[in-house]
Amino acid sequence: MNDELTAEIAKVREQLLGQLNQVQNKREILRSPSLKSLYSRISTLDPQQRAGFGQAVNALKNEIEKLIQSDISNTAELPPIDITAPFGSDKASERFGLLTADSGSIHPLMREQDLICEIFSNMGFSTMESREIDDDWHMFGSLNFPEGHPARDDYDTFNIVQTDEQGHPLLSPAHTSTMQNRALQAYQDELKHGRPIAVILPGRVFRHEDVDVRHEHTFYQFEGIYVAEGVTIGNLIATLVSFLESYYQKNVSFSTQPFYFPFTEPSLEFSIGCPFCDQQGCHICSGSGWIELIGCGMIHPNVLKAAGIDPNKYQGFAWGCGIDRLAMMKYGIEDVRLFKSGRLEFLRQFSPGGNL
Ligand SMILES: [Zn+2]
Repeated sequence: MNDELTAEIAKVREQLLGQLNQVQNKREILRSPSLKSLYSRISTLDPQQRAGFGQAVNALKNEIEKLIQSDISNTAELPPIDITAPFGSDKASERFGLLTADSGSIHPLMREQDLICEIFSNMGFSTMESREIDDDWHMFGSLNFPEGHPARDDYDTFNIVQTDEQGHPLLSPAHTSTMQNRALQAYQDELKHGRPIAVILPGRVFRHEDVDVRHEHTFYQFEGIYVAEGVTIGNLIATLVSFLESYYQKNVSFSTQPFYFPFTEPSLEFSIGCPFCDQQGCHICSGSGWIELIGCGMIHPNVLKAAGIDPNKYQGFAWGCGIDRLAMMKYGIEDVRLFKSGRLEFLRQFSPGGNL
């Protein structure tokens, strides 16, 4: 091997050794273009030079490999760190940029949930939190979906391995309506004292959905129920409009369409005028100028009976509304998946003055 070739290898060696202290993923050095170019050089040489040059290049590669290996085993001896810790436990872990405990802010969905509870509290409603695991009776039976009812198939629920006493699998609620029976029972003494049952039930719900800009498998809802003597559908609409105007801080145009839920009769779909296009029609409202926001209706007599309330004496209304959807309309968010994306630049918009 002539001097020129020896110098060529020495130059690459120097370059690779220099990279050892600079590159984070040290194995990348073995894929470096300068090392590759030495290998492709072999076939261009005179046959007399080839063997010697090839051996020298292999020797260089082995040397670098050994150095990388010993470097990696030295690193492995460092004390382990807990990357899930909310802040570094020592100076060394600060280089990962972990958050300190005083950073962060309330998630926008939780802020909206608090605001919703506050508005309804001012309207005389109590709050009862929903559950994240429930049983077949509360998801279906108590809501007038007898076994085998075809509308059960409209809810793509997640089943849980454990079963209830009847052998039905427990499930993750697909709507906050699973709480209606519990709330009607818990508050029915109010009726005896001449007061209404007025409760909202916020919580997290789960559906086996194909996820896209408008659909999530996990989202937040709040259910509302109101029961007293002589309640009409006019009270339902007035309650929803008054809430929405308070929530959006402006006049809201609305429309209702007949719908079907087994647990309300009649059932309605309540829509508001699309705030993205001022009802002119856009891709978000599919050109209709309206966005369906709330499923609602008069509580079915069988649901009142299942909770021990006399439907001949008392009437009531109920609704279910997505908190994610409400917030999307309020802030002009077009993709529901952003809420759970963990992107700081998205979250920062909702924490003015925060240090997130
Ligand atoms: Zn629109």
